Amino acid sequence: MPITEKIVLQNMINGEFVDAADGATEDVINPSTGEVIASSPLSSEEDVNRAVAAAKAAFEGGWATTTPAERSNRLLALADKIIENGDELTDVESADAGKPRQAFIDEELETTADHIRFFASAARNLEGKAAMEYQEGRTSFIRREPLGPVAQITPWNYPLMMAAWKLGPALATGNTLVLKPAESTPVSTLHVLARICAEVFPPGVTNFIGGHGDPAGSTLVRHPDIKLVSLTGSVNTGKWIARESADTLKRVHLELGGKAPVVVFDDADLDVVYETIAGTGLFNAGQDCTAATRILAGPKVYDDVVNGLSAEAGGYVMGDLDDAATMLGPVNSQKQFEHVTGLLERRPGHSQIATGGGSPDRPGFYIEPTVVADLQQDDELIQNEIFGPVLTVQRFTDEAEAIAWANGTRYGLASSVWTRDVGRAMRVSNALRFGAVWINDHITMAPEMPHGGYGESGYGKDMSMYSLEDYTNIKHVMISLT
Ligand code: NAD
Repeated sequence: MPITEKIVLQNMINGEFVDAADGATEDVINPSTGEVIASSPLSSEEDVNRAVAAAKAAFEGGWATTTPAERSNRLLALADKIIENGDELTDVESADAGKPRQAFIDEELETTADHIRFFASAARNLEGKAAMEYQEGRTSFIRREPLGPVAQITPWNYPLMMAAWKLGPALATGNTLVLKPAESTPVSTLHVLARICAEVFPPGVTNFIGGHGDPAGSTLVRHPDIKLVSLTGSVNTGKWIARESADTLKRVHLELGGKAPVVVFDDADLDVVYETIAGTGLFNAGQDCTAATRILAGPKVYDDVVNGLSAEAGGYVMGDLDDAATMLGPVNSQKQFEHVTGLLERRPGHSQIATGGGSPDRPGFYIEPTVVADLQQDDELIQNEIFGPVLTVQRFTDEAEAIAWANGTRYGLASSVWTRDVGRAMRVSNALRFGAVWINDHITMAPEMPHGGYGESGYGKDMSMYSLEDYTNIKHVMISLT
């Protein structure tokens, strides 16, 4: 159902919805219409302090010592509530983040609940080295202990799913949290997730505050009682958080985007390439840190790849988010619209727009599905994250050049290799410096497998048992047997 009445969002602190201390709010815009759909609290230092105090009290008041079974059962209840509240989540996430409703239902809603279910099982399966007499007359064992209150800062491309990726490992391991959604997409988090978390977890275990990177986010980052900051966002924000966290030696977990290369060799199955790469490059209007955006094609298939991707992308239906046929929504904000269109306007003279390149004459921040060919390695469109419905194509001459170009940006999150030659697939996947490499596929994820970057894509893993590492302290206890 479209949102017809403006939603008034509040912070969720210690189990209660409250306004920002100074009452400040900001309007939230539907990027497909430009209309106001909500007002969101703008948190100040006072709100951050209250939220962190609630998280600290809940940690010390018993959450840290709950049994894994209790944490697991509560996470399972949260997963059930995500599904039970699926219609409302679909309504608000579609209107706030510009997602076609059907795509959200098909690709994000159940997946989000499934990620929470994975963390419910992870809570009961934490591991450490075997208790043993590693020194004569002494028994050693390992304890895994939660850190304390943690700060979680989410982006605007997948507001609900990124919140789930962050909540899950923190709560499974006994931490409490303060989560701040991105200022342009706070609705699913503050309106629905905050409410159902308050129904499932004791007061203060999960706190949610609205507001901008500064002062809300920056105050959280600097707060002495916060033991870890987890961000999914831009490289610049990640670097700022890493620097700022040094003063209190907080742990930092950073997922900072990517520029995924898609290396298509001359022997690839091209029909699968076109469908998969257009699908995973344009999904969510290309606003995905693993999106298949940077295509490197072999010399013999280059022209076919440009034409095949253009035909596939040109067939993408852009339009109303409520229409089940819509495959492509708008980008998330005026700021992002200007970022993407600015990159296209500044494209170098040697490049060619093979399809798209413009924006339709309709309200909202829509950009046509676009393929830009004949780009060179140093071009801005190749080196910088676009985060819009734009695929770039370059022609490489041999395997060595393909690997060098694939590795030749500051990012290192995700990549894919397309070839029928098993030896080449293995050689190239070994040489790619990325946290994920798909062979003859792209973007398919499993909650059991990690997601995280190399290089300026950041450090720390989301998903999988690896994500729990950042959220636990490892304590060695040695007992003298005399
Ligand atoms: P951003 O880094 O400014 O925002 C991400 C989150 O960080 C938001 O919640 C924001 O409020 C918060 N934040 C910003 N400054 C902060 C600070 N000083 N302290 C604490 N929190 C702070 O990202 P953006 O400007 O919205 O997007 C810019 C670019 O970032 C995009 O074009 C894209 O390239 C990249 N991006 C990547 C991802 C990803 O999935 N890794 C997600 C969103 C954006």
